[in-house]
Amino acid sequence: MKKHNFGAGPCILPQSVLAAAAAAIKDFNGIGLSVLEISHRTKDWEAVMDECRALWKELLNIPDGYQVLFLGGGASMQFMQVPYNLLNKKAAYLDTGVWANKAAKEAKLFGEVEIVASSKDKNYTYIPKGYTISKDADYFHITTNNTIYGSEIHEDMDSPINLVADMSSDIMSRPVDVSKYALIYGGAQKNVGPAGVTFVIVREDILGKVDRTLPSMMDYRIHAKEGSMYNTPPVISIFIMKETLKWLKSIGGVPEIQKRNIAKAELLYDEIDRNKMFVGTVNTEDRSLMNICFVMAEGYGDKEEAFMEFAKKAGMVGIKGHRSVGGFRASTYNALPIESVQAMVDCMKEFEKQNA
Ligand SMILES: *Cc1c(COP(=O)(O)O)cnc(C)c1O
Repeated sequence: MKKHNFGAGPCILPQSVLAAAAAAIKDFNGIGLSVLEISHRTKDWEAVMDECRALWKELLNIPDGYQVLFLGGGASMQFMQVPYNLLNKKAAYLDTGVWANKAAKEAKLFGEVEIVASSKDKNYTYIPKGYTISKDADYFHITTNNTIYGSEIHEDMDSPINLVADMSSDIMSRPVDVSKYALIYGGAQKNVGPAGVTFVIVREDILGKVDRTLPSMMDYRIHAKEGSMYNTPPVISIFIMKETLKWLKSIGGVPEIQKRNIAKAELLYDEIDRNKMFVGTVNTEDRSLMNICFVMAEGYGDKEEAFMEFAKKAGMVGIKGHRSVGGFRASTYNALPIESVQAMVDCMKEFEKQNA
């Protein structure tokens, strides 16, 4: 049976990307060796790094003065590496959920952390607005898409200080004005590839300003100077990321995928709002286009397990909500086709017909 992969991460990848990865693992560029077993100091490999960087710059319109780095350790390591490189005295954080909290927790190891606003009072079902960002902080950290709670900051904000964003789960889902950010980071496995590689887009002029001495592996400047090959890079993850970006470019790039993502999200949110058995959990204007969270409506709480079984039988995968929200979460990342969303909607309609 056809599976519809709504998993929150690692994400669904295009079939053509998986085929290209399988081929390169068997025989890379027709050289008779696997991409896994060649030196990363060869021309063939360096061409992959160059192409991947060029695709990032082209697809996101990254201006001059920024470096694009491919590192290890996941977004979770960036929670520590960002303050290591940027926090001298104080940093400001916006508390919009689990990941934002984890980021702030690590920053506290390096200095003072000010939480400028939080939506914890309503279990992170909205994005705080109307707060003031302290001008004396070294940077302001935001999580643009809250993967667990399904809320999203849809616009590039103006910040009076260096803006740092964890874009793990909405990178390349919409055009971004990179010039408004000092640093953007994320794990690749939510929207641009598999786990194992982390992207960091950093404006060069913000580096080298902290008083502490940085270990080499923590220093963005060293990774920039070495073209993200200070040590052996995670080759297969980078290869698959490059293929994923090539696919994105081939279908029309970020503006086109944004259109598709909006269409997918509208289709599902419209059904959640129409169907009397389900209800969305997030403030309407802050709803994520990537992670769509909903629960059983009042009076239907006892049907949750039944719907889960029903959806599973129809081929839905990865729709169980995170334990801190409950209910359901359908992740509609770039590679998820609208046909899968339609299948989910049909499933919800049929369940309502049989049960409401
Ligand atoms: C998944 C996720 C992370 C953690 O990423 P890892 O690469 O597993 O460390 C951090 N932030 C956000 C917003 C995420 O969705």
